[in-house]
Amino acid sequence: MESQPIMSHNRTYGVANPGYVPEAVAGAPAMFAPPAAGSFGPSAPPANMFDTVPGYEGTMAGEGGGFLPPPMPLNPVPQPQPGPEQPQWNIPSITEDTAKEAFALFASSKCCYSSAPAKEGGITNMEAFNTYRYRLETFTESRSTQWAQEPYHGQPVDAYSSPPPGPWDIPAKVPSFFQDSKQIIKVPYTSSMKTCHVCLGMGRKPCRDCAGAGNKACWVCNGSGYRHGDDRCHHCNGRGRENCSHCHGQGSKQCPTCHGKQQLLVYINLTVKWTNNSDNYVVEQSSGLQVENLSKVSGQELFRDSQYLVYPLMSFPDMAVVNASQRFVSEHQGKFSQTSRILQQRQTIELIPVTRVTYSWKGKSHIYFVYGNEFKVSTDDYPATCCCTVM
Ligand SMILES: [Zn+2]
Ligand SMILES: [Zn+2]
Ligand SMILES: [Zn+2]
Repeated sequence: MESQPIMSHNRTYGVANPGYVPEAVAGAPAMFAPPAAGSFGPSAPPANMFDTVPGYEGTMAGEGGGFLPPPMPLNPVPQPQPGPEQPQWNIPSITEDTAKEAFALFASSKCCYSSAPAKEGGITNMEAFNTYRYRLETFTESRSTQWAQEPYHGQPVDAYSSPPPGPWDIPAKVPSFFQDSKQIIKVPYTSSMKTCHVCLGMGRKPCRDCAGAGNKACWVCNGSGYRHGDDRCHHCNGRGRENCSHCHGQGSKQCPTCHGKQQLLVYINLTVKWTNNSDNYVVEQSSGLQVENLSKVSGQELFRDSQYLVYPLMSFPDMAVVNASQRFVSEHQGKFSQTSRILQQRQTIELIPVTRVTYSWKGKSHIYFVYGNEFKVSTDDYPATCCCTVM
């Protein structure tokens, strides 16, 4: 085990061996000299483990390598067309009863809120502050390749028997649109058999807990064989040493990389990733309700348009929504068409109802908000918030 030059700390290839978890990194006996450099620890495979595969030259080992931009489309991309005119809409409003019910429910859900203000307070004013949420989703597919390895146990070896298909020519099953997903595919005609670089084809590795000795100093007597003066150590019968429990006294353990098979199957993995990239724009409203609250509720969908590439909104009563649509559509197409393939886009407009309710209780005026389809309530100045006082 002295001469293992290939295994020196070559980190060029990143974490090439994700399956290998170093054992007993902490708690190793400090009494022994540390093992020779290069014998242990995470070792990346040497560069000569990977053949040059036409069409996959940039492929690296481990996550993150081998990013592949999509090829130019053979046929011109169809240009998006403007959608139909927006329908007329009517803005719903809630009744006083709905507002009161929502408020009572809210008060009863808080253990420290007295229900009296919610029950007895009289509504003096209700004002609607309707808010629009525009959302653009762009569903993309991206592809990357990584060298991978697994213990060899007779898998077919097919490298060079035929040129491998291009990374974007390998068929993958597209999941439902707008749902994140991932598929890993072994690229055909890239598998070859290599001697395991971690154990150099031995199938076993020296045990790191006993530095290959198979035994170590007795932990009870610290290796002296005696306790409290002349008492012989019962744990080791006075030998001062005990069998290493990690390797059962063998001094070596099965290689964690090849699982003792001595050979590895080395091949290229294609990772196909589907991502729903979503951007939201909520029109500022002046009701006084914090905007964060609106991300927790649903609205009423006023408009939905889903196609390969959407056309930005041309008209809408609120110009801020039109501007957001034009900005997002141009940003998404610029950002995602370079690095991935756009499969589908969707734009929606939701109306989130917000009602500001003013009520009076014990001669004072207070405010709460009812918002979202769920009639959620928010208030900053609930007048009776201690359960220890008068209920
Ligand atoms: Zn051991
Ligand atoms: Zn002992
Ligand atoms: Zn091995």
